Amino acid sequence: MAILVLGGAGYIGSHAVYELIEAGRDVVVADNLLTGFREAVHPKARFYNIDIRNRSEVDALFEKEQIEGVIHFAACSQVGESMTHPLKYYDNNLSGTTVLLQSMVAHGVDKIVFSSTAATYGEPEQVPIRESDKTEPTNCYGETKLAMEKMMKWTGRAHELRYVALRYFNACGAHSSGAIGEAHDPETHLIPLILQVPNGQRAKISIFGDDYPTKDGTCVRDYIHVMDLAQAHVLALDYLMRGGESDVFNLGNGVGFTVKEVIDVARKVTGHEIPAEICPRRAGDPAQLVASSEKAKTVLGWKPQYADLETIVASAWNWHKSHPHGFEK
Ligand code: UDP
Repeated sequence: MAILVLGGAGYIGSHAVYELIEAGRDVVVADNLLTGFREAVHPKARFYNIDIRNRSEVDALFEKEQIEGVIHFAACSQVGESMTHPLKYYDNNLSGTTVLLQSMVAHGVDKIVFSSTAATYGEPEQVPIRESDKTEPTNCYGETKLAMEKMMKWTGRAHELRYVALRYFNACGAHSSGAIGEAHDPETHLIPLILQVPNGQRAKISIFGDDYPTKDGTCVRDYIHVMDLAQAHVLALDYLMRGGESDVFNLGNGVGFTVKEVIDVARKVTGHEIPAEICPRRAGDPAQLVASSEKAKTVLGWKPQYADLETIVASAWNWHKSHPHGFEK
């Protein structure tokens, strides 16, 4: 029996595939390669270039492979783009998940680990954020991810299906082997954009807003290493395999850093001055997002290994300086 990883050619998905294979699992990857990279797929995984909005392609995969559980990363994930192209997010994220769940139910596949996000919370009432806190997304990306969680919840009430939704805070860093790392086209995430400056690809980093109610006016985020996220997927799958009930877990380090602090850490790690410029706020950005991950630690047995931001940025820098243009398309 195999684990199907949808979106396994993307940033977090490819790291989860490496972790699953390391844990001795048989892995099937499906990805439409719109934002993922074939080169990011572990050589031991069986790869299908399919789109999850296409029911016949998804059905054919479930008929060909013996799938015991699904990990679902296949979604559009950029906050800024979701505000300018909301229907692209509804189409890819919600239509894709509808088809996937229909096909899972039809083929009796009853376990799914889902890649959710801190953006489901919106502007938090308190930090650190707990899973029971209110969810009022401030951007369309978070809204579609919350709707995907709810789709799984209601499907699970009607059919044999259990899910774990993992609400990531800010994923960053790269695999220790140096084989895979973060690569988006276009890149929109803070740490890879900062590292483009010492890599000679960008003159300066833009800081989106310095008038937020935070200690230095820039947004606060909880940066979590991608390998720690990958480990959580393997644990969540084990939890479902041993009969665990559907649930939602935050994944973060529980420590917030401002945009300016991240830039300072990158200056230290790279030895480059990294000029920065204050720019207007980016639409849809909450002022601060910091996780309480106590539930994942207690229930799933999750133990993040890379709590220190300097270590995280150093691992990202190791990848970006050896792959300044990411993967070849
Ligand atoms: N950010 C920034 N400049 C950039 C990219 C991002 O100031 O060039 C800020 C962004 O406003 C947010 C934080 O960095 O407060 C993290 O953004 P990212 O896109 O990496 O992740 P998100 O929090 O949107 O998931």
